[in-house]
Order: sequence, then structure tokens, then C-alpha cells
Amino acid sequence: MMGGNYLLDVMRLIGSGRLEPGKTYRVDVYHDDWCAVYRHLPCDCHPDVCLVPAEDAKAPAEGTGAGE
Ligand SMILES: [Zn+2]
Repeated sequence: MMGGNYLLDVMRLIGSGRLEPGKTYRVDVYHDDWCAVYRHLPCDCHPDVCLVPAEDAKAPAEGTGAGE
């Protein structure tokens, strides 16, 4: 059971229709401090999962309408 429960969150984000084809995204997963993933065990916390467009890292102020 490697990967942990956050994979469901990743799949939900991908399926939410907010991704644009041809773009590169980075998945940031923020685990809780006590999460087993830091002991080389499957994740057992409920981490925050963020999809970050790779372009944002290069050009953050492009105004792509990333707001809510
Ligand atoms: Zn975790």
C-alpha cells in the first residue's frame, strides 16, 4: 500500500477539470509532522495536496486568473 491515502486527493484534483492539456504541473503534498511517511511507511495523515502549474514557478505574475 505504498503511496498512501493522498493519491485519492491527487486523482480528484486531476479529475476536477482544472488542468490544461499540454501544461506541466507539480504536485505538492504537505504531510503532517507526525505522518508515517517520514518513517518510510505509507502515509497515514490527511495531507494538503496542491497542484502547482510549473509555469508559475518561472513567471509568477502572469495573471492567468488563478484566483478562486
Ligand atoms: Zn502523510
